Amino acid sequence: MPADLLRQVWGFDGFRPGQQEIVETVAAGRDVLAIMPTGGGKSLCYQLPALMRDGVTVVISPLIALMRDQVRSLREAGVAAGALTSGNTDAESDEVFAALRDGSLRLLYMAPERLASGATVPMLRRAGVTAIAVDEAHCVSQWGHDFRPDYLRVGELKRALGVPLAAFTATADAETRDEIVARLFDGAAPQVFLRGFDRPNIHLAFQPKDGPRRQIMDFARARRGQSGIVYCATRARTETLSAALNAENIAAVAYHGGMEADQRREVEARFQREDGLIVTATVAFGMGIDKPDIRWVAHSDLPKSIEAYYQEIGRAGRDGAPAETLTLYGPDDIRLRRTQIDEGLAPAERKEADHARLNALLGLAEAISCRRQHLLGYFGETAEPCGNCDLCDTPPEIFDATQPVRMALSAILRTGEWFGQGHVIDVLLGNATDKVAARGHDQLPTFGVGKAVPKGEWQAILRQMLGRDLIRPDPERHGGLRITAAAHPVLRGEETVTLRRDLIRRAKPAAVIRTQVSDEDAPLLSALKAKRRALAEAQRVPAYVIFPDRTLIE
Ligand code: ADP
Ligand code: MG
Ligand code: ZN
Repeated sequence: MPADLLRQVWGFDGFRPGQQEIVETVAAGRDVLAIMPTGGGKSLCYQLPALMRDGVTVVISPLIALMRDQVRSLREAGVAAGALTSGNTDAESDEVFAALRDGSLRLLYMAPERLASGATVPMLRRAGVTAIAVDEAHCVSQWGHDFRPDYLRVGELKRALGVPLAAFTATADAETRDEIVARLFDGAAPQVFLRGFDRPNIHLAFQPKDGPRRQIMDFARARRGQSGIVYCATRARTETLSAALNAENIAAVAYHGGMEADQRREVEARFQREDGLIVTATVAFGMGIDKPDIRWVAHSDLPKSIEAYYQEIGRAGRDGAPAETLTLYGPDDIRLRRTQIDEGLAPAERKEADHARLNALLGLAEAISCRRQHLLGYFGETAEPCGNCDLCDTPPEIFDATQPVRMALSAILRTGEWFGQGHVIDVLLGNATDKVAARGHDQLPTFGVGKAVPKGEWQAILRQMLGRDLIRPDPERHGGLRITAAAHPVLRGEETVTLRRDLIRRAKPAAVIRTQVSDEDAPLLSALKAKRRALAEAQRVPAYVIFPDRTLIE
Protein backbone atom coordinates (compact mmCIF):
# COMPACT_ATOMS: atom_id res chain seq x y z
CA MET A 1 0.00 0.00 0.00
CA PRO A 2 2.76 2.54 0.71
CA ALA A 3 4.20 1.69 -2.72
CA ASP A 4 0.80 2.32 -4.34
CA LEU A 5 0.49 5.72 -2.70
CA LEU A 6 4.04 6.50 -3.71
CA ARG A 7 3.12 5.88 -7.31
CA GLN A 8 -0.34 7.44 -7.30
CA VAL A 9 0.35 10.58 -5.31
CA TRP A 10 4.01 11.30 -6.04
CA GLY A 11 4.49 9.47 -9.30
CA PHE A 12 7.66 7.75 -8.01
CA ASP A 13 8.59 4.22 -9.08
CA GLY A 14 10.31 3.18 -5.92
CA PHE A 15 11.51 4.23 -2.51
CA ARG A 16 14.88 5.78 -2.04
CA PRO A 17 17.26 3.92 0.24
CA GLY A 18 15.92 3.77 3.77
CA GLN A 19 12.58 5.44 3.03
CA GLN A 20 10.39 2.38 3.10
CA GLU A 21 11.43 1.19 6.58
CA ILE A 22 11.01 4.68 7.97
CA VAL A 23 7.62 5.16 6.32
CA GLU A 24 6.37 1.86 7.72
CA THR A 25 7.66 2.56 11.22
CA VAL A 26 6.21 6.07 11.31
CA ALA A 27 2.89 4.82 9.93
CA ALA A 28 2.81 2.20 12.69
CA GLY A 29 2.80 5.01 15.25
CA ARG A 30 6.28 4.53 16.68
CA ASP A 31 8.55 7.37 17.82
CA VAL A 32 11.26 7.77 15.20
CA LEU A 33 14.48 9.69 14.76
CA ALA A 34 15.70 9.45 11.18
CA ILE A 35 19.02 10.79 10.01
CA MET A 36 19.33 10.99 6.24
CA PRO A 37 21.56 13.07 4.03
CA THR A 38 20.27 16.23 2.41
CA GLY A 39 18.39 15.30 -0.71
CA GLY A 40 17.78 11.80 0.64
CA GLY A 41 14.03 12.31 0.64
CA LYS A 42 13.08 12.98 4.25
CA SER A 43 9.86 14.88 3.51
CA LEU A 44 8.25 11.82 2.00
CA CYS A 45 8.99 9.88 5.20
CA TYR A 46 6.42 11.93 7.12
CA GLN A 47 4.12 12.95 4.27
CA LEU A 48 3.33 9.43 3.13
CA PRO A 49 2.59 8.03 6.64
CA ALA A 50 0.27 10.99 7.18
CA LEU A 51 -1.85 9.63 4.33
CA MET A 52 -1.76 6.12 5.77
CA ARG A 53 -2.93 7.20 9.24
CA ASP A 54 -6.20 8.65 10.42
CA GLY A 55 -6.38 12.24 11.57
CA VAL A 56 -4.04 15.16 11.10
CA THR A 57 -0.23 15.11 11.19
CA VAL A 58 1.33 18.33 12.43
CA VAL A 59 4.61 19.17 10.73
CA ILE A 60 6.98 21.50 12.53
CA SER A 61 9.32 23.14 10.08
CA PRO A 62 11.69 26.08 10.53
CA LEU A 63 11.25 28.02 7.31
CA ILE A 64 8.13 29.59 5.89
CA ALA A 65 9.41 29.22 2.34
CA LEU A 66 9.96 25.47 2.84
CA MET A 67 6.49 25.03 4.27
CA ARG A 68 4.84 26.93 1.45
CA ASP A 69 6.73 24.91 -1.13
CA GLN A 70 5.72 21.62 0.38
CA VAL A 71 2.11 22.63 0.85
CA ARG A 72 1.92 23.76 -2.74
CA SER A 73 3.32 20.55 -4.17
CA LEU A 74 1.18 18.38 -1.89
CA ARG A 75 -1.91 20.26 -3.00
CA GLU A 76 -0.94 19.86 -6.62
CA ALA A 77 -0.76 16.13 -5.96
CA GLY A 78 -4.28 16.27 -4.51
CA VAL A 79 -3.34 16.03 -0.81
CA ALA A 80 -5.22 18.23 1.66
CA ALA A 81 -2.37 20.15 3.27
CA GLY A 82 -2.19 23.61 4.81
CA ALA A 83 0.18 25.85 6.71
CA LEU A 84 -0.24 28.23 9.59
CA THR A 85 2.57 30.74 9.40
CA SER A 86 3.09 34.41 10.06
CA GLY A 87 3.22 34.84 6.27
CA ASN A 88 -0.44 33.76 5.83
CA THR A 89 -3.18 36.11 4.74
CA ASP A 90 -6.30 35.98 6.94
CA ALA A 91 -8.14 34.22 4.14
CA GLU A 92 -5.43 31.53 3.95
CA SER A 93 -5.57 30.94 7.69
CA ASP A 94 -9.38 30.82 7.67
CA GLU A 95 -9.25 28.20 4.97
CA VAL A 96 -6.88 26.07 7.07
CA PHE A 97 -9.06 26.43 10.19
CA ALA A 98 -12.13 25.44 8.20
CA ALA A 99 -10.41 22.33 6.85
CA LEU A 100 -9.28 21.46 10.38
CA ARG A 101 -12.84 21.80 11.67
CA ASP A 102 -14.44 19.66 9.01
CA GLY A 103 -11.76 17.01 9.41
CA SER A 104 -10.56 17.09 5.80
CA LEU A 105 -6.99 18.26 6.47
CA ARG A 106 -4.26 15.59 6.49
CA LEU A 107 -1.07 17.63 7.01
CA LEU A 108 -0.79 20.86 8.95
CA TYR A 109 2.53 22.71 8.65
CA MET A 110 3.37 25.02 11.48
CA ALA A 111 6.28 27.21 12.45
CA PRO A 112 7.53 26.45 15.99
CA GLU A 113 6.77 30.05 17.04
CA ARG A 114 3.06 29.21 16.95
CA LEU A 115 3.58 26.92 19.91
CA ALA A 116 4.27 29.95 22.09
CA SER A 117 0.55 30.79 21.96
CA GLY A 118 -1.53 29.13 24.68
CA ALA A 119 -4.37 28.67 22.19
CA THR A 120 -2.39 26.34 19.92
CA VAL A 121 -2.41 23.10 21.92
CA PRO A 122 -6.17 23.12 22.61
CA MET A 123 -6.76 23.95 18.96
CA LEU A 124 -4.63 21.00 17.84
CA ARG A 125 -6.31 18.69 20.32
CA ARG A 126 -9.76 19.62 18.99
CA ALA A 127 -8.51 19.15 15.44
CA GLY A 128 -7.74 15.48 16.06
CA VAL A 129 -3.97 15.55 15.65
CA THR A 130 -2.65 11.98 15.70
CA ALA A 131 1.06 12.47 14.95
CA ILE A 132 3.82 15.06 14.99
CA ALA A 133 6.65 15.31 12.46
CA VAL A 134 9.64 17.56 13.08
CA ASP A 135 11.67 18.56 10.06
CA GLU A 136 15.24 19.86 10.53
CA ALA A 137 15.12 18.51 14.07
CA HIS A 138 18.70 19.63 14.79
CA CYS A 139 17.21 23.11 15.30
CA VAL A 140 16.43 21.88 18.82
CA SER A 141 20.15 21.56 19.53
CA GLN A 142 22.14 24.33 21.14
CA TRP A 143 25.30 22.77 19.72
CA GLY A 144 24.52 23.64 16.15
CA HIS A 145 24.27 27.07 14.57
CA ASP A 146 20.64 26.55 13.60
CA PHE A 147 19.31 26.63 17.17
CA ARG A 148 15.71 27.81 17.36
CA PRO A 149 14.49 28.29 20.94
CA ASP A 150 10.88 27.61 19.97
CA TYR A 151 11.82 24.07 18.93
CA LEU A 152 12.13 23.37 22.66
CA ARG A 153 8.33 23.64 22.87
CA VAL A 154 7.86 20.71 20.55
CA GLY A 155 8.62 18.27 23.38
CA GLU A 156 5.86 19.88 25.44
CA LEU A 157 3.49 19.57 22.50
CA LYS A 158 4.16 15.84 22.25
CA ARG A 159 3.56 15.44 25.97
CA ALA A 160 0.36 17.47 25.84
CA LEU A 161 -1.12 15.59 22.88
CA GLY A 162 0.25 12.16 23.76
CA VAL A 163 0.90 11.25 20.11
CA PRO A 164 3.94 9.69 18.37
CA LEU A 165 6.65 11.96 17.03
CA ALA A 166 8.99 11.47 14.09
CA ALA A 167 12.05 13.72 13.89
CA PHE A 168 14.20 14.22 10.77
CA THR A 169 17.59 15.72 10.27
CA ALA A 170 20.69 15.45 8.11
CA THR A 171 22.96 16.23 11.03
CA ALA A 172 24.38 12.98 12.26
CA ASP A 173 26.85 13.82 15.01
CA ALA A 174 26.33 12.08 18.32
CA GLU A 175 25.86 15.19 20.51
CA THR A 176 23.12 16.54 18.31
CA ARG A 177 21.41 13.18 18.20
CA ASP A 178 21.47 12.85 21.99
CA GLU A 179 20.12 16.33 22.39
CA ILE A 180 17.26 15.66 19.97
CA VAL A 181 16.32 12.51 21.88
CA ALA A 182 16.47 14.29 25.24
CA ARG A 183 14.45 17.31 24.17
CA LEU A 184 11.87 15.97 21.74
CA PHE A 185 11.25 12.53 23.19
CA ASP A 186 11.81 13.29 26.89
CA GLY A 187 14.79 10.97 26.68
CA ALA A 188 12.60 7.92 25.91
CA ALA A 189 14.39 6.08 23.13
CA PRO A 190 12.81 6.51 19.70
CA GLN A 191 13.59 4.04 16.94
CA VAL A 192 16.68 5.51 15.30
CA PHE A 193 17.39 5.19 11.57
CA LEU A 194 20.94 6.06 10.77
CA ARG A 195 22.22 4.09 7.90
CA GLY A 196 24.39 5.11 5.03
CA PHE A 197 22.94 4.21 1.69
CA ASP A 198 26.00 2.36 0.56
CA ARG A 199 25.96 -1.38 -0.01
CA PRO A 200 29.71 -1.82 -0.40
CA ASN A 201 29.58 -5.57 -1.07
CA ILE A 202 27.61 -5.10 -4.29
CA HIS A 203 29.77 -4.68 -7.38
CA LEU A 204 28.25 -2.19 -9.83
CA ALA A 205 28.58 -2.42 -13.60
CA PHE A 206 26.81 -1.07 -16.66
CA GLN A 207 27.32 -2.00 -20.30
CA PRO A 208 25.83 -0.63 -23.49
CA LYS A 209 23.73 -3.28 -25.22
CA ASP A 210 25.80 -5.12 -27.77
CA GLY A 211 23.84 -8.30 -28.32
CA PRO A 212 21.94 -8.20 -25.00
CA ARG A 213 20.86 -11.84 -25.01
CA ARG A 214 24.47 -12.95 -25.42
CA GLN A 215 25.66 -10.48 -22.77
CA ILE A 216 23.19 -11.83 -20.21
CA MET A 217 23.91 -15.43 -21.15
CA ASP A 218 27.67 -14.85 -20.74
CA PHE A 219 27.12 -13.24 -17.37
CA ALA A 220 24.87 -16.06 -16.13
CA ARG A 221 27.11 -18.80 -17.54
CA ALA A 222 30.09 -17.41 -15.64
CA ARG A 223 28.03 -17.63 -12.44
CA ARG A 224 26.59 -21.11 -12.85
CA GLY A 225 25.30 -22.48 -9.55
CA GLN A 226 24.63 -19.08 -7.98
CA SER A 227 21.18 -17.67 -7.31
CA GLY A 228 20.45 -14.66 -9.47
CA ILE A 229 17.72 -12.46 -10.90
CA VAL A 230 17.53 -11.07 -14.42
CA TYR A 231 15.15 -8.13 -14.69
CA CYS A 232 13.61 -7.73 -18.14
CA ALA A 233 11.46 -4.97 -19.58
CA THR A 234 8.87 -7.28 -21.10
CA ARG A 235 7.06 -10.45 -20.15
CA ALA A 236 8.01 -12.01 -23.46
CA ARG A 237 11.70 -11.50 -22.74
CA THR A 238 11.45 -13.21 -19.33
CA GLU A 239 10.14 -16.30 -21.16
CA THR A 240 12.68 -16.34 -23.99
CA LEU A 241 15.59 -15.80 -21.59
CA SER A 242 14.59 -18.54 -19.19
CA ALA A 243 14.15 -20.91 -22.14
CA ALA A 244 17.60 -20.00 -23.45
CA LEU A 245 19.17 -20.58 -20.03
CA ASN A 246 17.43 -23.92 -19.54
CA ALA A 247 18.59 -24.98 -23.00
CA GLU A 248 22.13 -24.72 -21.60
CA ASN A 249 21.19 -26.64 -18.47
CA ILE A 250 21.22 -23.55 -16.32
CA ALA A 251 18.12 -23.79 -14.12
CA ALA A 252 15.93 -20.76 -14.74
CA VAL A 253 12.28 -19.87 -14.38
CA ALA A 254 10.29 -16.90 -15.64
CA TYR A 255 8.15 -14.65 -13.43
CA HIS A 256 5.81 -11.87 -14.45
CA GLY A 257 2.49 -10.25 -13.64
CA GLY A 258 0.72 -12.12 -16.41
CA MET A 259 1.10 -15.43 -14.57
CA GLU A 260 -1.53 -16.91 -12.27
CA ALA A 261 -1.10 -15.95 -8.61
CA ASP A 262 -0.39 -19.52 -7.47
CA GLN A 263 2.12 -20.01 -10.26
CA ARG A 264 3.91 -16.87 -9.09
CA ARG A 265 3.86 -18.04 -5.48
CA GLU A 266 5.38 -21.31 -6.57
CA VAL A 267 8.26 -19.54 -8.32
CA GLU A 268 8.85 -17.41 -5.22
CA ALA A 269 8.91 -20.48 -2.99
CA ARG A 270 11.21 -22.36 -5.33
CA PHE A 271 13.64 -19.44 -5.55
CA GLN A 272 13.67 -19.14 -1.77
CA ARG A 273 14.31 -22.86 -1.33
CA GLU A 274 16.64 -23.85 -4.17
CA ASP A 275 20.28 -22.96 -4.54
CA GLY A 276 21.50 -21.66 -7.85
CA LEU A 277 18.14 -20.94 -9.47
CA ILE A 278 17.83 -17.97 -11.81
CA VAL A 279 14.58 -16.07 -12.04
CA THR A 280 14.07 -14.05 -15.20
CA ALA A 281 11.46 -11.55 -14.16
CA THR A 282 9.71 -8.28 -14.69
CA VAL A 283 9.85 -5.77 -11.84
CA ALA A 284 6.81 -7.55 -10.39
CA PHE A 285 9.33 -9.90 -8.76
CA GLY A 286 11.04 -8.95 -5.56
CA MET A 287 8.70 -7.22 -3.15
CA GLY A 288 8.11 -10.32 -1.06
CA ILE A 289 11.50 -11.92 -1.63
CA ASP A 290 13.65 -12.23 1.44
CA LYS A 291 16.56 -14.36 0.30
CA PRO A 292 19.86 -13.30 1.83
CA ASP A 293 22.18 -15.12 -0.57
CA ILE A 294 21.14 -13.79 -3.98
CA ARG A 295 24.60 -13.54 -5.56
CA TRP A 296 23.79 -11.42 -8.58
CA VAL A 297 21.19 -9.21 -10.22
CA ALA A 298 21.29 -8.36 -13.92
CA HIS A 299 19.14 -5.94 -15.89
CA SER A 300 18.67 -6.94 -19.51
CA ASP A 301 17.06 -3.53 -20.06
CA LEU A 302 17.48 -0.11 -18.51
CA PRO A 303 15.61 0.13 -15.18
CA LYS A 304 12.94 2.79 -14.74
CA SER A 305 14.88 5.19 -12.54
CA ILE A 306 17.86 5.34 -10.21
CA GLU A 307 15.52 4.61 -7.31
CA ALA A 308 14.20 1.49 -9.05
CA TYR A 309 17.77 0.46 -9.97
CA TYR A 310 18.98 0.80 -6.41
CA GLN A 311 16.04 -1.15 -5.06
CA GLU A 312 16.44 -3.94 -7.60
CA ILE A 313 20.21 -4.41 -7.28
CA GLY A 314 19.79 -4.07 -3.52
CA ARG A 315 18.16 -7.51 -3.47
CA ALA A 316 21.59 -9.02 -4.08
CA GLY A 317 24.03 -9.78 -1.29
CA ARG A 318 21.85 -9.08 1.72
CA ASP A 319 24.11 -11.49 3.63
CA GLY A 320 26.97 -9.01 3.17
CA ALA A 321 29.04 -11.40 1.05
CA PRO A 322 30.24 -10.17 -2.35
CA ALA A 323 27.50 -9.84 -4.95
CA GLU A 324 27.56 -8.71 -8.54
CA THR A 325 25.33 -6.71 -10.84
CA LEU A 326 25.22 -5.93 -14.53
CA THR A 327 22.90 -3.40 -16.10
CA LEU A 328 22.47 -3.18 -19.86
CA TYR A 329 21.14 -0.13 -21.61
CA GLY A 330 20.75 0.91 -25.19
CA PRO A 331 19.37 3.71 -27.29
CA ASP A 332 16.20 1.66 -27.79
CA ASP A 333 15.54 1.73 -24.03
CA ILE A 334 16.07 5.46 -23.94
CA ARG A 335 13.76 6.18 -26.85
CA LEU A 336 11.11 3.83 -25.52
CA ARG A 337 11.18 5.47 -22.08
CA ARG A 338 11.05 8.98 -23.59
CA THR A 339 8.08 7.98 -25.72
CA GLN A 340 6.32 6.35 -22.77
CA ILE A 341 6.78 9.51 -20.72
CA ASP A 342 5.68 11.85 -23.51
CA GLU A 343 2.66 9.80 -24.46
CA GLY A 344 1.60 9.14 -20.89
CA LEU A 345 -1.28 10.97 -19.27
CA ALA A 346 0.75 12.70 -16.57
CA PRO A 347 0.64 16.50 -16.30
CA ALA A 348 3.44 18.47 -17.96
CA GLU A 349 5.51 19.05 -14.80
CA ARG A 350 5.42 15.39 -13.92
CA LYS A 351 6.63 14.52 -17.41
CA GLU A 352 9.39 17.04 -17.07
CA ALA A 353 10.41 15.47 -13.76
CA ASP A 354 10.30 11.99 -15.31
CA HIS A 355 12.61 13.10 -18.11
CA ALA A 356 14.98 14.61 -15.57
CA ARG A 357 14.98 11.35 -13.59
CA LEU A 358 15.68 9.39 -16.75
CA ASN A 359 18.55 11.77 -17.49
CA ALA A 360 19.97 11.14 -14.04
CA LEU A 361 19.88 7.41 -14.69
CA LEU A 362 21.62 7.85 -18.04
CA GLY A 363 24.19 10.02 -16.31
CA LEU A 364 24.85 7.09 -13.99
CA ALA A 365 25.01 4.64 -16.90
CA GLU A 366 27.58 6.76 -18.72
CA ALA A 367 29.41 8.13 -15.69
CA ILE A 368 33.07 8.91 -16.27
CA SER A 369 34.38 7.97 -12.84
CA CYS A 370 33.43 5.82 -9.81
CA ARG A 371 29.86 4.69 -10.31
CA ARG A 372 29.16 4.30 -6.60
CA GLN A 373 30.27 7.86 -5.93
CA HIS A 374 27.86 8.95 -8.62
CA LEU A 375 25.02 6.80 -7.25
CA LEU A 376 25.48 7.89 -3.64
CA GLY A 377 25.89 11.48 -4.76
CA TYR A 378 22.45 11.28 -6.35
CA PHE A 379 21.08 10.32 -2.94
CA GLY A 380 22.93 13.18 -1.29
CA GLU A 381 25.75 11.17 0.23
CA THR A 382 29.43 11.84 -0.41
CA ALA A 383 31.89 8.98 -0.83
CA GLU A 384 35.41 8.14 -1.88
CA PRO A 385 36.05 6.15 -5.08
CA CYS A 386 34.89 2.67 -4.10
CA GLY A 387 37.20 0.19 -5.77
CA ASN A 388 34.22 -2.10 -6.34
CA CYS A 389 32.67 -0.94 -9.59
CA ASP A 390 33.48 -1.37 -13.25
CA LEU A 391 34.77 2.19 -13.57
CA CYS A 392 37.11 1.82 -10.59
CA ASP A 393 38.25 -1.57 -11.98
CA THR A 394 39.03 -0.06 -15.38
CA PRO A 395 38.92 3.71 -15.54
CA PRO A 396 37.41 4.63 -18.90
CA GLU A 397 39.29 6.65 -21.44
CA ILE A 398 37.85 10.15 -21.52
CA PHE A 399 38.43 13.06 -23.83
CA ASP A 400 37.62 16.72 -24.14
CA ALA A 401 34.56 16.72 -26.39
CA THR A 402 33.81 20.42 -26.08
CA GLN A 403 34.44 21.00 -29.78
CA PRO A 404 32.07 18.36 -31.23
CA VAL A 405 29.49 19.06 -28.51
CA ARG A 406 29.46 22.73 -29.48
CA MET A 407 29.12 21.77 -33.14
CA ALA A 408 26.10 19.63 -32.32
CA LEU A 409 24.55 22.31 -30.11
CA SER A 410 24.90 24.91 -32.81
CA ALA A 411 23.47 22.59 -35.47
CA ILE A 412 20.45 22.10 -33.19
CA LEU A 413 20.09 25.84 -32.62
CA ARG A 414 20.56 26.77 -36.27
CA THR A 415 17.88 24.33 -37.38
CA GLY A 416 15.48 25.97 -34.94
CA GLU A 417 15.42 23.23 -32.27
CA TRP A 418 12.79 21.39 -34.28
CA PHE A 419 14.51 18.23 -35.47
CA GLY A 420 15.45 14.80 -34.22
CA GLN A 421 18.87 13.26 -34.00
CA GLY A 422 18.88 11.90 -37.57
CA HIS A 423 18.34 15.26 -39.18
CA VAL A 424 20.82 17.03 -36.91
CA ILE A 425 23.45 14.46 -37.79
CA ASP A 426 22.69 14.81 -41.51
CA VAL A 427 23.35 18.54 -41.17
CA LEU A 428 26.59 17.94 -39.26
CA LEU A 429 27.79 15.41 -41.80
CA GLY A 430 26.78 17.55 -44.75
CA ASN A 431 24.30 14.99 -46.11
CA ALA A 432 22.06 16.88 -48.52
CA THR A 433 19.00 14.70 -47.96
CA ASP A 434 15.63 15.81 -49.36
CA LYS A 435 14.60 17.01 -45.94
CA VAL A 436 17.83 18.96 -45.50
CA ALA A 437 17.50 20.55 -48.93
CA ALA A 438 13.79 21.31 -48.51
CA ARG A 439 14.52 23.31 -45.34
CA GLY A 440 17.52 25.03 -46.85
CA HIS A 441 19.68 23.51 -44.14
CA ASP A 442 22.41 22.85 -46.67
CA GLN A 443 22.94 26.62 -46.69
CA LEU A 444 23.71 26.81 -42.97
CA PRO A 445 27.23 27.56 -41.76
CA THR A 446 27.09 24.36 -39.67
CA PHE A 447 26.31 22.23 -42.74
CA GLY A 448 29.06 19.64 -43.00
CA VAL A 449 31.19 20.99 -40.11
CA GLY A 450 31.19 17.52 -38.55
CA LYS A 451 32.20 15.56 -41.66
CA ALA A 452 35.35 14.24 -40.04
CA VAL A 453 33.37 12.41 -37.35
CA PRO A 454 31.65 9.17 -38.42
CA LYS A 455 27.89 8.91 -38.07
CA GLY A 456 28.05 6.26 -35.32
CA GLU A 457 30.22 8.54 -33.24
CA TRP A 458 27.82 11.41 -33.64
CA GLN A 459 25.03 9.15 -32.40
CA ALA A 460 27.09 8.22 -29.35
CA ILE A 461 28.00 11.85 -28.70
CA LEU A 462 24.37 12.93 -28.92
CA ARG A 463 23.37 10.09 -26.60
CA GLN A 464 25.91 11.18 -24.02
CA MET A 465 24.69 14.75 -24.46
CA LEU A 466 21.17 13.53 -23.71
CA GLY A 467 22.50 11.72 -20.66
CA ARG A 468 24.15 14.92 -19.44
CA ASP A 469 20.92 16.79 -20.05
CA LEU A 470 22.62 19.21 -22.43
CA ILE A 471 19.88 18.48 -24.95
CA ARG A 472 16.40 17.12 -24.59
CA PRO A 473 13.71 15.84 -26.92
CA ASP A 474 10.78 18.25 -26.79
CA PRO A 475 7.39 16.49 -26.79
CA GLU A 476 5.75 19.70 -28.00
CA ARG A 477 7.87 19.44 -31.11
CA HIS A 478 7.42 15.74 -31.82
CA GLY A 479 10.60 14.86 -30.04
CA GLY A 480 12.69 17.51 -31.80
CA LEU A 481 15.89 18.16 -29.85
CA ARG A 482 16.26 21.40 -27.98
CA ILE A 483 19.12 22.64 -25.87
CA THR A 484 18.80 23.01 -22.10
CA ALA A 485 20.05 25.69 -19.71
CA ALA A 486 23.00 23.41 -18.90
CA ALA A 487 24.22 23.85 -22.49
CA HIS A 488 24.47 27.63 -22.35
CA PRO A 489 27.82 27.85 -20.54
CA VAL A 490 29.21 25.32 -23.02
CA LEU A 491 28.05 27.41 -25.95
CA ARG A 492 29.47 30.54 -24.36
CA GLY A 493 32.82 28.80 -23.99
CA GLU A 494 32.67 28.96 -20.18
CA GLU A 495 32.51 25.22 -19.62
CA THR A 496 34.10 22.21 -21.23
CA VAL A 497 32.50 18.79 -21.73
CA THR A 498 34.29 15.52 -21.06
CA LEU A 499 32.89 12.37 -22.65
CA ARG A 500 33.82 8.72 -22.62
CA ARG A 501 35.87 7.54 -25.56
CA ASP A 502 35.05 3.86 -25.00
CA LEU A 503 31.34 4.48 -25.43
CA ILE A 504 31.97 6.31 -28.66
CA ARG A 505 34.28 3.80 -30.30
CA ARG A 506 32.03 0.84 -29.74
CA ALA A 507 29.02 2.68 -31.09
CA LYS A 508 28.00 1.64 -34.56
CA PRO A 509 25.23 3.21 -36.57
CA ALA A 510 21.80 1.74 -36.09
CA ALA A 511 20.25 0.16 -39.15
CA VAL A 512 16.92 1.86 -39.58
CA ILE A 513 14.20 0.55 -41.83
CA ARG A 514 11.54 3.19 -42.42
CA THR A 515 8.12 2.17 -43.53
CA GLN A 516 4.41 2.74 -43.26
CA VAL A 517 2.27 -0.05 -41.83
CA SER A 518 -1.49 -0.46 -41.55
CA ASP A 519 -3.50 -3.30 -40.05
CA GLU A 520 -3.62 -5.26 -43.27
CA ASP A 521 0.12 -5.06 -43.36
CA ALA A 522 0.54 -7.25 -40.29
CA PRO A 523 2.39 -9.94 -42.26
CA LEU A 524 4.72 -7.25 -43.57
CA LEU A 525 5.28 -6.08 -40.03
CA SER A 526 6.41 -9.49 -38.87
CA ALA A 527 8.65 -9.74 -41.90
CA LEU A 528 10.19 -6.43 -40.91
CA LYS A 529 10.65 -7.57 -37.36
CA ALA A 530 12.41 -10.68 -38.58
CA LYS A 531 14.61 -8.57 -40.82
CA ARG A 532 15.42 -6.29 -37.92
CA ARG A 533 16.37 -9.25 -35.78
CA ALA A 534 18.53 -10.70 -38.51
CA LEU A 535 20.31 -7.38 -38.99
CA ALA A 536 20.83 -6.95 -35.29
CA GLU A 537 22.21 -10.47 -34.93
CA ALA A 538 24.38 -10.36 -38.04
CA GLN A 539 25.96 -6.99 -37.42
CA ARG A 540 25.71 -6.97 -33.65
CA VAL A 541 24.21 -3.50 -33.84
CA PRO A 542 20.89 -2.32 -32.51
CA ALA A 543 18.29 -2.01 -35.26
CA TYR A 544 14.78 -0.63 -35.00
CA VAL A 545 11.68 -0.35 -37.04
CA ILE A 546 10.47 3.20 -36.57
CA PHE A 547 7.05 4.21 -37.80
CA PRO A 548 6.17 7.66 -39.00
CA ASP A 549 4.33 8.30 -35.72
CA ARG A 550 7.56 7.49 -33.86
CA THR A 551 6.34 4.23 -32.41
CA LEU A 552 9.23 1.92 -32.18
CA ILE A 553 9.28 -1.80 -32.66
CA GLU A 554 11.97 -3.70 -30.91
P1 ADP B 1 15.60 16.05 2.15
O1 ADP B 1 14.54 16.78 2.95
O2 ADP B 1 16.00 14.75 2.77
O3 ADP B 1 16.79 16.90 1.83
P2 ADP B 1 13.58 16.03 0.15
O4 ADP B 1 12.48 15.46 0.94
O5 ADP B 1 13.54 17.50 -0.08
O6 ADP B 1 14.98 15.64 0.77
O7 ADP B 1 13.68 15.25 -1.23
C1 ADP B 1 14.70 15.54 -2.16
C2 ADP B 1 14.20 15.27 -3.56
O8 ADP B 1 14.07 13.88 -3.76
C3 ADP B 1 12.85 15.87 -3.86
O9 ADP B 1 12.90 16.45 -5.14
C4 ADP B 1 11.91 14.70 -3.84
O10 ADP B 1 10.81 14.90 -4.69
C5 ADP B 1 12.82 13.58 -4.34
N1 ADP B 1 12.39 12.26 -3.87
C6 ADP B 1 12.12 11.89 -2.61
N2 ADP B 1 11.77 10.59 -2.53
C7 ADP B 1 11.82 10.12 -3.80
C8 ADP B 1 11.56 8.84 -4.40
N3 ADP B 1 11.20 7.79 -3.67
N4 ADP B 1 11.69 8.75 -5.73
C9 ADP B 1 12.07 9.82 -6.47
N5 ADP B 1 12.33 11.03 -5.97
C10 ADP B 1 12.21 11.19 -4.66
MG1 MG C 1 14.17 18.50 3.86
ZN1 ZN D 1 33.85 2.76 -7.82
